Amino acid sequence: MIYSTTDNLANRGNGEKRLSVSSALDGQLMMEDPLLESFGKVERAKQEWEATVDALPELIFVVDDHGRIIRANRTIEDWGMGSVKDVMGLNLHALIHPVCAKPCYLERFLSLFQQTDGDGGNAITANVANVETYDTLLQRDIQMRGRPVHFKNDTAVNHWVVILHDISERKRMEQALQRQNGRLSAINAINQTILTARSPEEIAQATLANLQSLIPFQQAHILLRIPQKRELLVLAVVDDGNGRVLEPGQVLPRTDFTGQNDNSLEHFFMVQRLSALTVSSPIEERWRQQNIQSYINFPLIMGVNLIGSLQLATNSQPAFAPGHIAIVREIAQSLTIAINQSQLTRKLEQGNQELQELLRAKHEMMQNVSHDLRSPLALIKGYTELLQEGLFGSLTDEQQEALTVLDINGDQLFFLIDRLFKLQTIDKHTLEKTTFNLYAFLKQVEKSWQVLATNKSVHLDLDAPPELPELTADANMLNQTLFNLLDNALKYSPQGSAVTLGAVVEDDCVILSVADEGAGIPPDKLARLFDRFYQVEKGSVQAQKGAGIGLALCKAITEAHDGRIWAESAGAGAGSVFFVKLPLNPII
Ligand code: ADP
Repeated sequence: MIYSTTDNLANRGNGEKRLSVSSALDGQLMMEDPLLESFGKVERAKQEWEATVDALPELIFVVDDHGRIIRANRTIEDWGMGSVKDVMGLNLHALIHPVCAKPCYLERFLSLFQQTDGDGGNAITANVANVETYDTLLQRDIQMRGRPVHFKNDTAVNHWVVILHDISERKRMEQALQRQNGRLSAINAINQTILTARSPEEIAQATLANLQSLIPFQQAHILLRIPQKRELLVLAVVDDGNGRVLEPGQVLPRTDFTGQNDNSLEHFFMVQRLSALTVSSPIEERWRQQNIQSYINFPLIMGVNLIGSLQLATNSQPAFAPGHIAIVREIAQSLTIAINQSQLTRKLEQGNQELQELLRAKHEMMQNVSHDLRSPLALIKGYTELLQEGLFGSLTDEQQEALTVLDINGDQLFFLIDRLFKLQTIDKHTLEKTTFNLYAFLKQVEKSWQVLATNKSVHLDLDAPPELPELTADANMLNQTLFNLLDNALKYSPQGSAVTLGAVVEDDCVILSVADEGAGIPPDKLARLFDRFYQVEKGSVQAQKGAGIGLALCKAITEAHDGRIWAESAGAGAGSVFFVKLPLNPII
Protein backbone atom coordinates (compact mmCIF):
# COMPACT_ATOMS: atom_id res chain seq x y z
CA MET A 1 0.00 0.00 0.00
CA ILE A 2 1.20 3.50 -0.80
CA TYR A 3 0.44 5.60 2.23
CA SER A 4 -0.41 9.21 1.86
CA THR A 5 0.17 12.04 4.34
CA THR A 6 -3.05 13.62 3.10
CA ASP A 7 -6.43 12.16 2.20
CA ASN A 8 -7.37 13.08 -1.35
CA LEU A 9 -11.03 12.60 -0.83
CA ALA A 10 -11.15 14.76 2.29
CA ASN A 11 -9.12 17.46 0.66
CA ARG A 12 -10.98 17.85 -2.57
CA GLY A 13 -12.00 21.28 -1.26
CA ASN A 14 -14.80 21.71 -3.78
CA GLY A 15 -17.44 22.35 -1.16
CA GLU A 16 -19.10 18.99 -1.61
CA LYS A 17 -19.71 16.38 1.06
CA ARG A 18 -16.70 15.57 3.18
CA LEU A 19 -17.07 11.83 3.70
CA SER A 20 -14.52 9.27 4.65
CA VAL A 21 -13.97 6.49 2.15
CA SER A 22 -14.63 3.78 4.69
CA SER A 23 -18.06 5.13 5.46
CA ALA A 24 -18.70 5.61 1.76
CA LEU A 25 -17.94 1.97 1.10
CA ASP A 26 -20.42 0.85 3.73
CA GLY A 27 -24.11 0.32 3.16
CA GLN A 28 -26.91 1.90 1.30
CA LEU A 29 -25.77 5.45 1.06
CA MET A 30 -23.08 4.57 -1.47
CA MET A 31 -25.53 2.76 -3.66
CA GLU A 32 -27.93 5.65 -3.64
CA ASP A 33 -25.44 8.44 -4.18
CA PRO A 34 -23.83 8.37 -7.70
CA LEU A 35 -20.98 10.51 -6.46
CA LEU A 36 -20.19 8.08 -3.68
CA GLU A 37 -20.41 5.22 -6.14
CA SER A 38 -17.74 6.93 -8.26
CA PHE A 39 -15.61 7.49 -5.19
CA GLY A 40 -15.91 3.80 -4.38
CA LYS A 41 -14.73 2.85 -7.86
CA VAL A 42 -11.83 5.24 -7.63
CA GLU A 43 -10.90 3.88 -4.23
CA ARG A 44 -10.96 0.28 -5.48
CA ALA A 45 -8.82 1.19 -8.49
CA LYS A 46 -6.44 2.97 -6.15
CA GLN A 47 -6.20 -0.08 -3.88
CA GLU A 48 -5.56 -2.34 -6.85
CA TRP A 49 -2.82 -0.02 -8.11
CA GLU A 50 -1.26 0.18 -4.62
CA ALA A 51 -1.28 -3.62 -4.29
CA THR A 52 0.52 -3.84 -7.63
CA VAL A 53 3.12 -1.28 -6.64
CA ASP A 54 3.63 -3.05 -3.30
CA ALA A 55 4.34 -6.31 -5.12
CA LEU A 56 7.18 -4.81 -7.16
CA PRO A 57 10.75 -5.73 -6.22
CA GLU A 58 11.76 -2.08 -6.70
CA LEU A 59 11.64 0.34 -3.83
CA ILE A 60 9.37 3.26 -4.81
CA PHE A 61 9.14 6.63 -3.11
CA VAL A 62 7.25 9.83 -3.82
CA VAL A 63 9.22 12.77 -2.38
CA ASP A 64 8.64 16.50 -2.21
CA ASP A 65 11.10 19.18 -3.27
CA HIS A 66 12.85 18.99 0.12
CA GLY A 67 13.46 15.28 -0.41
CA ARG A 68 10.84 14.33 2.22
CA ILE A 69 9.03 11.07 1.72
CA ILE A 70 5.35 11.46 0.93
CA ARG A 71 4.69 7.85 -0.11
CA ALA A 72 6.62 4.59 -0.14
CA ASN A 73 5.73 1.06 -1.23
CA ARG A 74 5.92 -2.01 0.98
CA THR A 75 9.15 -3.22 -0.55
CA ILE A 76 10.83 -0.97 2.00
CA GLU A 77 10.21 -3.71 4.58
CA ASP A 78 12.07 -6.24 2.41
CA TRP A 79 15.00 -3.84 2.28
CA GLY A 80 15.05 -3.68 6.06
CA MET A 81 14.43 0.06 6.30
CA GLY A 82 11.48 -0.13 8.67
CA SER A 83 7.75 -0.07 8.01
CA VAL A 84 5.94 2.05 5.45
CA LYS A 85 4.40 4.24 8.15
CA ASP A 86 7.75 4.78 9.93
CA VAL A 87 9.33 6.48 6.95
CA MET A 88 6.59 8.99 6.19
CA GLY A 89 7.92 12.54 6.34
CA LEU A 90 11.53 11.39 6.71
CA ASN A 91 14.18 12.81 4.41
CA LEU A 92 15.04 10.20 1.78
CA HIS A 93 18.76 10.87 2.00
CA ALA A 94 18.71 10.62 5.80
CA LEU A 95 16.75 7.37 5.57
CA ILE A 96 19.10 5.68 3.15
CA HIS A 97 22.32 7.23 4.43
CA PRO A 98 21.88 7.78 8.19
CA VAL A 99 25.65 8.14 8.41
CA CYS A 100 27.00 9.69 5.27
CA ALA A 101 30.44 10.67 4.06
CA LYS A 102 29.62 13.71 1.95
CA PRO A 103 29.36 14.51 -0.85
CA CYS A 104 27.42 11.42 -1.82
CA TYR A 105 25.78 10.37 -5.05
CA LEU A 106 22.35 10.36 -3.40
CA GLU A 107 22.51 14.00 -2.38
CA ARG A 108 23.60 14.96 -5.87
CA PHE A 109 20.79 12.86 -7.25
CA LEU A 110 18.14 14.47 -5.04
CA SER A 111 19.51 17.97 -5.64
CA LEU A 112 18.64 17.56 -9.32
CA PHE A 113 14.97 17.78 -8.35
CA GLN A 114 15.44 21.04 -6.55
CA GLN A 115 16.70 23.00 -9.54
CA THR A 116 14.36 25.81 -10.54
CA ASP A 117 13.82 27.72 -13.73
CA GLY A 118 16.02 30.56 -12.48
CA ASP A 119 13.24 32.97 -11.43
CA GLY A 120 12.93 31.29 -8.09
CA GLY A 121 9.83 29.87 -9.61
CA ASN A 122 8.88 26.44 -10.80
CA ALA A 123 11.16 23.47 -10.65
CA ILE A 124 12.46 22.24 -13.94
CA THR A 125 9.91 19.62 -14.83
CA ALA A 126 12.02 17.86 -17.43
CA ASN A 127 14.55 16.57 -14.89
CA VAL A 128 14.83 12.86 -15.19
CA ALA A 129 17.68 11.41 -13.15
CA ASN A 130 19.30 8.02 -13.42
CA VAL A 131 22.26 6.67 -11.50
CA GLU A 132 23.88 3.25 -11.16
CA THR A 133 26.30 2.74 -8.31
CA TYR A 134 27.44 0.52 -5.48
CA ASP A 135 25.94 1.86 -2.25
CA THR A 136 28.31 1.10 0.60
CA LEU A 137 25.68 1.61 3.28
CA LEU A 138 23.07 -0.51 1.55
CA GLN A 139 25.84 -2.90 0.59
CA ARG A 140 24.41 -3.56 -2.83
CA ASP A 141 24.59 -2.35 -6.39
CA ILE A 142 21.64 -0.12 -7.06
CA GLN A 143 20.03 1.70 -9.90
CA MET A 144 18.16 4.84 -8.90
CA ARG A 145 15.78 6.58 -11.24
CA GLY A 146 13.80 9.73 -10.53
CA ARG A 147 11.26 11.68 -12.51
CA PRO A 148 8.82 14.51 -11.70
CA VAL A 149 5.15 13.69 -11.11
CA HIS A 150 3.02 15.45 -13.72
CA PHE A 151 -0.48 16.45 -12.77
CA LYS A 152 -2.89 17.36 -15.53
CA ASN A 153 -3.19 21.17 -15.96
CA ASP A 154 -0.67 21.65 -13.18
CA THR A 155 2.52 23.37 -14.25
CA ALA A 156 4.00 23.64 -10.77
CA VAL A 157 5.67 20.34 -10.06
CA ASN A 158 7.02 19.65 -6.65
CA HIS A 159 6.69 15.87 -6.29
CA TRP A 160 9.07 13.28 -7.65
CA VAL A 161 8.99 9.53 -7.94
CA VAL A 162 12.22 7.81 -6.96
CA ILE A 163 12.65 4.17 -7.91
CA LEU A 164 15.40 2.13 -6.29
CA HIS A 165 16.31 -1.13 -7.98
CA ASP A 166 18.66 -3.73 -6.48
CA ILE A 167 20.91 -4.71 -9.42
CA SER A 168 23.51 -6.63 -7.38
CA GLU A 169 22.69 -9.91 -9.11
CA ARG A 170 22.90 -8.34 -12.56
CA LYS A 171 26.22 -6.72 -11.65
CA ARG A 172 27.55 -10.02 -10.32
CA MET A 173 26.60 -11.69 -13.59
CA GLU A 174 28.14 -8.89 -15.62
CA GLN A 175 31.36 -9.05 -13.63
CA ALA A 176 31.49 -12.85 -13.92
CA LEU A 177 30.92 -12.51 -17.65
CA GLN A 178 33.61 -9.87 -17.88
CA ARG A 179 36.06 -12.08 -15.98
CA GLN A 180 35.17 -15.01 -18.21
CA ASN A 181 35.63 -12.86 -21.31
CA GLY A 182 38.97 -11.59 -20.04
CA ARG A 183 40.09 -15.16 -19.41
CA LEU A 184 38.93 -16.33 -22.79
CA SER A 185 40.66 -13.53 -24.65
CA ALA A 186 43.86 -14.19 -22.66
CA ILE A 187 43.65 -17.91 -23.49
CA ASN A 188 42.98 -16.97 -27.09
CA ALA A 189 46.02 -14.73 -27.18
CA ILE A 190 48.16 -17.56 -25.77
CA ASN A 191 46.77 -20.01 -28.30
CA GLN A 192 47.57 -17.61 -31.12
CA THR A 193 51.15 -17.25 -29.90
CA ILE A 194 51.50 -20.99 -29.50
CA LEU A 195 50.21 -21.63 -32.98
CA THR A 196 52.53 -19.14 -34.65
CA ALA A 197 55.65 -20.35 -32.83
CA ARG A 198 57.72 -22.84 -34.84
CA SER A 199 59.86 -25.08 -32.68
CA PRO A 200 58.76 -26.90 -29.48
CA GLU A 201 61.22 -24.66 -27.57
CA GLU A 202 59.63 -21.47 -28.95
CA ILE A 203 56.14 -22.77 -28.25
CA ALA A 204 57.03 -23.67 -24.66
CA GLN A 205 58.75 -20.34 -23.98
CA ALA A 206 55.82 -18.34 -25.44
CA THR A 207 53.34 -20.32 -23.34
CA LEU A 208 55.15 -19.69 -20.07
CA ALA A 209 55.71 -16.01 -20.82
CA ASN A 210 51.98 -15.55 -21.49
CA LEU A 211 50.94 -17.59 -18.47
CA GLN A 212 52.89 -15.26 -16.24
CA SER A 213 50.46 -12.44 -17.00
CA LEU A 214 47.46 -14.62 -16.15
CA ILE A 215 48.47 -16.59 -13.06
CA PRO A 216 50.66 -15.69 -10.13
CA PHE A 217 53.57 -18.15 -9.78
CA GLN A 218 57.28 -18.02 -8.92
CA GLN A 219 58.73 -20.67 -11.20
CA ALA A 220 57.49 -22.70 -14.13
CA HIS A 221 58.95 -25.12 -16.64
CA ILE A 222 57.89 -27.29 -19.53
CA LEU A 223 59.48 -30.71 -19.96
CA LEU A 224 59.56 -32.87 -23.08
CA ARG A 225 59.74 -36.64 -22.82
CA ILE A 226 62.58 -38.19 -24.80
CA PRO A 227 61.08 -41.26 -26.49
CA GLN A 228 62.56 -44.65 -25.69
CA LYS A 229 64.52 -43.16 -22.79
CA ARG A 230 63.48 -42.50 -19.24
CA GLU A 231 64.69 -38.94 -19.63
CA LEU A 232 63.17 -35.49 -19.93
CA LEU A 233 64.39 -32.46 -21.86
CA VAL A 234 63.77 -29.05 -20.30
CA LEU A 235 62.12 -27.07 -23.13
CA ALA A 236 61.55 -23.73 -21.38
CA VAL A 237 61.82 -22.14 -17.93
CA VAL A 238 60.55 -18.87 -16.43
CA ASP A 239 60.94 -17.46 -12.92
CA ASP A 240 60.18 -14.29 -10.98
CA GLY A 241 63.86 -13.30 -10.72
CA ASN A 242 64.51 -15.10 -7.45
CA GLY A 243 66.10 -18.26 -8.79
CA ARG A 244 65.07 -21.39 -10.63
CA VAL A 245 65.68 -25.10 -10.33
CA LEU A 246 66.14 -25.94 -14.01
CA GLU A 247 67.70 -24.48 -17.15
CA PRO A 248 66.45 -24.85 -20.74
CA GLY A 249 68.25 -27.60 -22.66
CA GLN A 250 68.99 -29.71 -19.58
CA VAL A 251 68.31 -33.44 -19.85
CA LEU A 252 67.31 -35.13 -16.60
CA PRO A 253 66.29 -38.65 -15.61
CA ARG A 254 62.60 -39.04 -14.97
CA THR A 255 63.32 -40.19 -11.43
CA ASP A 256 64.40 -36.61 -10.60
CA PHE A 257 60.70 -35.69 -10.75
CA THR A 258 59.20 -38.72 -9.04
CA GLY A 259 58.62 -38.08 -5.38
CA GLN A 260 56.20 -39.22 -2.74
CA ASN A 261 52.67 -40.58 -3.21
CA ASP A 262 51.86 -41.72 -6.66
CA ASN A 263 52.89 -38.41 -8.09
CA SER A 264 53.61 -39.58 -11.58
CA LEU A 265 54.15 -37.15 -14.44
CA GLU A 266 51.33 -38.94 -16.30
CA HIS A 267 48.73 -37.43 -13.95
CA PHE A 268 47.56 -34.04 -12.89
CA PHE A 269 48.51 -33.45 -9.25
CA MET A 270 49.02 -30.62 -6.81
CA VAL A 271 51.46 -30.73 -3.90
CA GLN A 272 49.93 -28.32 -1.37
CA ARG A 273 52.80 -28.26 1.15
CA LEU A 274 56.24 -29.21 0.04
CA SER A 275 57.44 -28.92 3.63
CA ALA A 276 54.97 -31.59 4.71
CA LEU A 277 56.35 -34.24 2.33
CA THR A 278 58.18 -37.08 4.03
CA VAL A 279 59.83 -38.25 0.80
CA SER A 280 60.61 -35.77 -1.93
CA SER A 281 62.13 -35.92 -5.40
CA PRO A 282 65.43 -34.11 -6.14
CA ILE A 283 63.53 -31.30 -7.88
CA GLU A 284 61.06 -30.97 -4.98
CA GLU A 285 64.04 -30.83 -2.64
CA ARG A 286 65.62 -27.99 -4.65
CA TRP A 287 62.32 -26.15 -4.74
CA ARG A 288 61.99 -26.48 -0.99
CA GLN A 289 65.40 -24.92 -0.54
CA GLN A 290 64.20 -21.96 -2.61
CA ASN A 291 61.19 -21.49 -0.36
CA ILE A 292 58.65 -22.85 -2.81
CA GLN A 293 55.54 -23.98 -0.92
CA SER A 294 53.52 -25.84 -3.49
CA TYR A 295 53.37 -26.81 -7.15
CA ILE A 296 51.09 -28.30 -9.78
CA ASN A 297 51.87 -30.78 -12.54
CA PHE A 298 49.91 -30.87 -15.81
CA PRO A 299 50.69 -33.87 -18.00
CA LEU A 300 50.86 -33.15 -21.74
CA ILE A 301 49.13 -36.17 -23.21
CA MET A 302 48.61 -36.83 -26.91
CA GLY A 303 46.17 -39.70 -27.39
CA VAL A 304 47.42 -42.12 -24.74
CA ASN A 305 51.06 -41.03 -24.81
CA LEU A 306 52.72 -38.69 -22.37
CA ILE A 307 54.72 -36.21 -24.43
CA GLY A 308 55.76 -33.92 -21.62
CA SER A 309 54.74 -31.97 -18.57
CA LEU A 310 54.01 -28.41 -17.45
CA GLN A 311 54.82 -27.52 -13.84
CA LEU A 312 54.04 -24.29 -11.97
CA ALA A 313 55.38 -23.55 -8.50
CA THR A 314 54.45 -20.88 -5.96
CA ASN A 315 55.53 -19.72 -2.52
CA SER A 316 52.16 -18.26 -1.61
CA GLN A 317 49.37 -19.93 0.33
CA PRO A 318 46.75 -20.97 -0.64
CA ALA A 319 48.50 -22.28 -3.73
CA PHE A 320 46.45 -22.07 -6.93
CA ALA A 321 42.80 -21.08 -7.26
CA PRO A 322 40.44 -23.46 -9.11
CA GLY A 323 39.97 -20.76 -11.78
CA HIS A 324 43.73 -20.67 -12.39
CA ILE A 325 43.91 -24.45 -12.62
CA ALA A 326 41.11 -24.42 -15.20
CA ILE A 327 43.02 -21.89 -17.31
CA VAL A 328 46.28 -23.85 -17.21
CA ARG A 329 44.45 -27.08 -18.01
CA GLU A 330 43.00 -25.46 -21.13
CA ILE A 331 46.34 -24.01 -22.18
CA ALA A 332 48.08 -27.34 -21.55
CA GLN A 333 45.79 -28.89 -24.16
CA SER A 334 46.71 -26.34 -26.85
CA LEU A 335 50.34 -26.66 -25.83
CA THR A 336 50.23 -30.46 -26.29
CA ILE A 337 48.76 -30.14 -29.78
CA ALA A 338 51.21 -27.42 -30.80
CA ILE A 339 54.29 -29.32 -29.54
CA ASN A 340 53.11 -32.53 -31.14
CA GLN A 341 52.48 -30.76 -34.42
CA SER A 342 55.82 -29.03 -34.45
CA GLN A 343 57.55 -32.36 -33.71
CA LEU A 344 55.69 -33.92 -36.63
CA THR A 345 56.63 -31.00 -38.89
CA ARG A 346 60.26 -31.37 -37.83
CA LYS A 347 60.15 -35.10 -38.62
CA LEU A 348 58.45 -34.37 -41.93
CA GLU A 349 61.08 -31.80 -42.84
CA GLN A 350 63.84 -34.25 -41.95
CA GLY A 351 62.12 -36.99 -43.96
CA ASN A 352 61.73 -34.61 -46.88
CA GLN A 353 65.38 -33.72 -46.80
CA GLU A 354 66.34 -37.39 -46.73
CA LEU A 355 63.98 -38.06 -49.63
CA GLN A 356 65.50 -35.25 -51.67
CA GLU A 357 68.96 -36.71 -51.06
CA LEU A 358 67.76 -40.18 -52.07
CA LEU A 359 66.18 -38.78 -55.23
CA ARG A 360 69.41 -37.01 -56.10
CA ALA A 361 71.37 -40.23 -55.50
CA LYS A 362 68.89 -42.17 -57.64
CA HIS A 363 69.20 -39.64 -60.46
CA GLU A 364 72.97 -39.87 -60.31
CA MET A 365 72.87 -43.65 -60.29
CA MET A 366 70.50 -43.74 -63.27
CA GLN A 367 72.81 -41.43 -65.16
CA ASN A 368 75.76 -43.71 -64.40
CA VAL A 369 73.88 -46.88 -65.30
CA SER A 370 72.60 -45.33 -68.50
CA HIS A 371 76.10 -44.24 -69.42
CA ASP A 372 77.57 -47.65 -68.56
CA LEU A 373 74.97 -49.38 -70.73
CA ARG A 374 75.26 -47.02 -73.67
CA SER A 375 79.03 -47.11 -73.96
CA PRO A 376 79.46 -50.85 -74.73
CA LEU A 377 76.31 -50.68 -76.85
CA ALA A 378 77.77 -47.87 -78.92
CA LEU A 379 80.87 -50.05 -79.52
CA ILE A 380 78.71 -52.99 -80.62
CA LYS A 381 76.73 -50.68 -82.94
CA GLY A 382 79.89 -49.12 -84.31
CA TYR A 383 81.57 -52.46 -85.10
CA THR A 384 78.33 -53.79 -86.60
CA GLU A 385 78.23 -50.82 -88.98
CA LEU A 386 81.92 -51.32 -89.91
CA LEU A 387 81.24 -54.98 -90.58
CA GLN A 388 78.15 -54.07 -92.64
CA GLU A 389 80.20 -51.61 -94.70
CA GLY A 390 82.68 -54.44 -95.48
CA LEU A 391 85.63 -52.88 -93.70
CA PHE A 392 86.71 -56.32 -92.46
CA GLY A 393 86.10 -58.09 -95.77
CA SER A 394 83.10 -58.97 -97.84
CA LEU A 395 80.19 -60.80 -96.17
CA THR A 396 77.83 -63.51 -97.25
CA ASP A 397 74.08 -62.78 -97.44
CA GLU A 398 73.54 -64.80 -94.27
CA GLN A 399 76.21 -62.79 -92.43
CA GLN A 400 74.63 -59.51 -93.69
CA GLU A 401 71.23 -60.69 -92.40
CA ALA A 402 72.72 -61.56 -89.01
CA LEU A 403 74.31 -58.11 -88.81
CA THR A 404 70.96 -56.44 -89.66
CA VAL A 405 69.29 -58.32 -86.78
CA LEU A 406 72.17 -57.20 -84.53
CA ASP A 407 71.75 -53.60 -85.71
CA ILE A 408 67.95 -53.50 -85.22
CA ASN A 409 68.22 -55.00 -81.73
CA GLY A 410 71.01 -52.60 -80.86
CA ASP A 411 68.69 -49.69 -81.85
CA GLN A 412 65.91 -51.15 -79.73
CA LEU A 413 68.22 -51.40 -76.74
CA PHE A 414 69.26 -47.78 -77.17
CA PHE A 415 65.62 -46.79 -77.42
CA LEU A 416 64.71 -48.74 -74.28
CA ILE A 417 67.60 -47.38 -72.22
CA ASP A 418 66.70 -43.85 -73.24
CA ARG A 419 63.04 -44.25 -72.25
CA LEU A 420 63.85 -46.00 -69.00
CA PHE A 421 66.26 -43.23 -68.07
CA LYS A 422 63.70 -40.52 -68.82
CA LEU A 423 60.96 -42.37 -66.95
CA GLN A 424 63.12 -42.67 -63.87
CA THR A 425 64.35 -39.11 -63.85
CA ILE A 426 61.50 -36.93 -65.09
CA ASP A 427 59.77 -34.67 -62.59
CA LYS A 428 58.64 -31.04 -62.22
CA HIS A 429 62.15 -29.85 -61.43
CA THR A 430 63.89 -31.44 -64.40
CA LEU A 431 61.60 -29.76 -66.97
CA GLU A 432 63.08 -27.03 -69.13
CA LYS A 433 60.06 -24.88 -69.90
CA THR A 434 59.86 -22.26 -72.64
CA THR A 435 56.95 -20.41 -74.19
CA PHE A 436 56.36 -21.28 -77.85
CA ASN A 437 53.81 -21.08 -80.65
CA LEU A 438 51.74 -24.22 -80.19
CA TYR A 439 50.30 -24.33 -83.70
CA ALA A 440 53.75 -24.04 -85.31
CA PHE A 441 55.00 -26.76 -82.98
CA LEU A 442 52.16 -29.15 -83.92
CA LYS A 443 52.61 -28.38 -87.62
CA GLN A 444 56.27 -29.33 -87.30
CA VAL A 445 55.40 -32.60 -85.53
CA GLU A 446 52.87 -33.46 -88.23
CA LYS A 447 55.39 -32.74 -90.95
CA SER A 448 58.08 -34.95 -89.44
CA TRP A 449 55.63 -37.88 -89.14
CA GLN A 450 54.21 -37.58 -92.67
CA VAL A 451 56.96 -39.78 -94.23
CA LEU A 452 56.40 -42.64 -91.79
CA ALA A 453 52.61 -42.36 -92.17
CA THR A 454 52.87 -42.41 -95.98
CA ASN A 455 55.16 -45.45 -95.79
CA LYS A 456 52.44 -47.21 -93.82
CA SER A 457 49.73 -45.90 -96.17
CA VAL A 458 48.07 -44.10 -93.28
CA HIS A 459 46.51 -40.69 -93.79
CA LEU A 460 47.95 -38.30 -91.15
CA ASP A 461 46.13 -35.03 -90.54
CA LEU A 462 46.43 -32.02 -88.21
CA ASP A 463 43.14 -30.75 -86.84
CA ALA A 464 43.96 -27.56 -84.92
CA PRO A 465 43.08 -23.85 -85.34
CA PRO A 466 46.09 -21.73 -86.45
CA GLU A 467 45.17 -19.14 -83.80
CA LEU A 468 46.04 -21.55 -80.97
CA PRO A 469 47.58 -19.63 -78.06
CA GLU A 470 51.19 -19.91 -76.96
CA LEU A 471 52.07 -22.72 -74.59
CA THR A 472 54.62 -22.76 -71.79
CA ALA A 473 56.06 -26.26 -71.52
CA ASP A 474 59.18 -28.38 -72.05
CA ALA A 475 59.03 -28.65 -75.86
CA ASN A 476 61.40 -31.65 -75.98
CA MET A 477 59.33 -33.57 -73.48
CA LEU A 478 56.08 -32.66 -75.22
CA ASN A 479 57.63 -33.83 -78.47
CA GLN A 480 58.55 -37.11 -76.74
CA THR A 481 54.93 -37.54 -75.59
CA LEU A 482 53.49 -36.94 -79.07
CA PHE A 483 56.21 -39.19 -80.51
CA ASN A 484 55.04 -42.09 -78.29
CA LEU A 485 51.36 -41.48 -79.05
CA LEU A 486 51.86 -41.13 -82.83
CA ASP A 487 54.24 -44.10 -82.86
CA ASN A 488 51.55 -46.24 -81.19
CA ALA A 489 48.79 -44.86 -83.41
CA LEU A 490 50.70 -45.78 -86.57
CA LYS A 491 51.75 -49.09 -85.06
CA TYR A 492 48.15 -50.14 -84.40
CA SER A 493 46.57 -48.60 -87.55
CA PRO A 494 45.70 -50.67 -90.64
CA GLN A 495 46.64 -49.46 -94.11
CA GLY A 496 44.29 -46.85 -95.56
CA SER A 497 43.03 -45.66 -92.17
CA ALA A 498 43.48 -42.16 -90.75
CA VAL A 499 45.41 -40.79 -87.79
CA THR A 500 44.56 -37.28 -86.57
CA LEU A 501 46.66 -35.03 -84.37
CA GLY A 502 44.31 -32.48 -82.80
CA ALA A 503 44.25 -29.53 -80.38
CA VAL A 504 41.43 -27.53 -78.76
CA VAL A 505 41.45 -24.86 -76.07
CA GLU A 506 39.20 -25.42 -73.08
CA ASP A 507 39.13 -22.74 -70.36
CA ASP A 508 42.75 -22.12 -69.45
CA CYS A 509 43.97 -25.47 -70.81
CA VAL A 510 44.78 -26.99 -74.14
CA ILE A 511 43.72 -30.55 -74.95
CA LEU A 512 45.97 -32.33 -77.44
CA SER A 513 44.70 -35.56 -78.99
CA VAL A 514 45.95 -38.40 -81.17
CA ALA A 515 43.11 -40.38 -82.75
CA ASP A 516 43.37 -43.52 -84.86
CA GLU A 517 40.99 -45.95 -86.53
CA GLY A 518 43.04 -48.97 -85.59
CA ALA A 519 43.07 -51.89 -83.16
CA GLY A 520 41.18 -50.11 -80.36
CA ILE A 521 41.42 -51.00 -76.68
CA PRO A 522 38.96 -53.02 -74.56
CA PRO A 523 37.28 -50.56 -72.12
CA ASP A 524 38.35 -52.61 -69.06
CA LYS A 525 42.02 -52.15 -70.06
CA LEU A 526 41.89 -48.36 -70.52
CA ALA A 527 42.68 -47.50 -66.92
CA ARG A 528 45.82 -49.66 -66.75
CA LEU A 529 47.35 -48.53 -70.07
CA PHE A 530 49.52 -45.93 -68.38
CA ASP A 531 51.03 -48.30 -65.80
CA ARG A 532 54.72 -49.06 -66.23
CA PHE A 533 55.43 -52.18 -68.31
CA TYR A 534 51.76 -52.71 -69.09
CA GLN A 535 50.95 -54.13 -72.50
CA VAL A 536 47.46 -55.11 -73.59
CA GLU A 537 48.79 -58.02 -75.63
CA LYS A 538 52.13 -59.02 -74.15
CA GLY A 539 54.51 -60.78 -76.50
CA SER A 540 52.84 -59.64 -79.73
CA VAL A 541 55.29 -58.52 -82.40
CA GLN A 542 53.93 -54.97 -82.27
CA ALA A 543 54.19 -54.76 -78.49
CA GLN A 544 57.76 -55.95 -78.29
CA LYS A 545 59.70 -52.77 -79.06
CA GLY A 546 58.55 -50.48 -76.27
CA ALA A 547 58.09 -53.05 -73.46
CA GLY A 548 55.19 -51.05 -72.03
CA ILE A 549 57.15 -47.94 -71.13
CA GLY A 550 55.90 -45.45 -73.75
CA LEU A 551 52.55 -44.50 -72.17
CA ALA A 552 54.01 -44.56 -68.64
CA LEU A 553 56.57 -42.02 -69.86
CA CYS A 554 53.79 -39.91 -71.47
CA LYS A 555 51.98 -39.93 -68.12
CA ALA A 556 55.10 -38.93 -66.17
CA ILE A 557 55.81 -36.05 -68.58
CA THR A 558 52.19 -34.83 -68.56
CA GLU A 559 51.94 -34.93 -64.77
CA ALA A 560 55.26 -33.14 -64.39
CA HIS A 561 53.49 -30.37 -66.35
CA ASP A 562 50.52 -30.52 -63.92
CA GLY A 563 48.45 -31.99 -66.74
CA ARG A 564 46.31 -35.10 -67.21
CA ILE A 565 46.44 -37.93 -69.75
CA TRP A 566 43.73 -40.45 -70.61
CA ALA A 567 42.52 -42.70 -73.41
CA GLU A 568 39.09 -43.42 -74.88
CA SER A 569 38.10 -46.34 -77.07
CA ALA A 570 34.84 -48.05 -77.92
CA GLY A 571 36.66 -51.40 -77.79
CA ALA A 572 38.63 -53.81 -79.96
CA GLY A 573 38.70 -52.72 -83.61
CA ALA A 574 37.00 -49.38 -82.91
CA GLY A 575 40.11 -47.19 -82.91
CA SER A 576 41.34 -45.11 -79.93
CA VAL A 577 41.87 -41.51 -78.94
CA PHE A 578 44.59 -40.42 -76.51
CA PHE A 579 44.17 -37.03 -74.78
CA VAL A 580 46.78 -34.83 -73.09
CA LYS A 581 45.39 -31.86 -71.14
CA LEU A 582 47.92 -29.16 -70.21
CA PRO A 583 47.55 -25.81 -68.43
CA LEU A 584 48.21 -22.87 -70.79
CA ASN A 585 49.58 -20.66 -68.03
CA PRO A 586 51.28 -23.00 -65.58
CA ILE A 587 52.85 -21.85 -62.34
CA ILE A 588 56.57 -21.90 -63.07
P1 ADP B 1 54.85 -49.89 -75.70
O1 ADP B 1 55.95 -48.92 -75.42
O2 ADP B 1 55.18 -51.30 -75.41
O3 ADP B 1 54.13 -49.64 -76.95
P2 ADP B 1 52.96 -48.34 -74.44
O4 ADP B 1 53.08 -47.93 -73.02
O5 ADP B 1 53.21 -47.30 -75.46
O6 ADP B 1 53.83 -49.61 -74.60
O7 ADP B 1 51.52 -48.90 -74.66
C1 ADP B 1 51.00 -49.85 -73.77
C2 ADP B 1 50.01 -50.71 -74.44
O8 ADP B 1 48.88 -49.93 -74.81
C3 ADP B 1 50.47 -51.27 -75.73
O9 ADP B 1 51.14 -52.50 -75.52
C4 ADP B 1 49.20 -51.49 -76.48
O10 ADP B 1 48.65 -52.75 -76.14
C5 ADP B 1 48.29 -50.40 -75.99
N1 ADP B 1 48.19 -49.28 -76.93
C6 ADP B 1 48.87 -48.13 -76.90
N2 ADP B 1 48.50 -47.31 -77.91
C7 ADP B 1 47.54 -47.96 -78.59
C8 ADP B 1 46.75 -47.63 -79.74
N3 ADP B 1 46.87 -46.49 -80.38
N4 ADP B 1 45.85 -48.54 -80.14
C9 ADP B 1 45.74 -49.71 -79.51
N5 ADP B 1 46.44 -50.09 -78.43
C10 ADP B 1 47.34 -49.22 -77.98
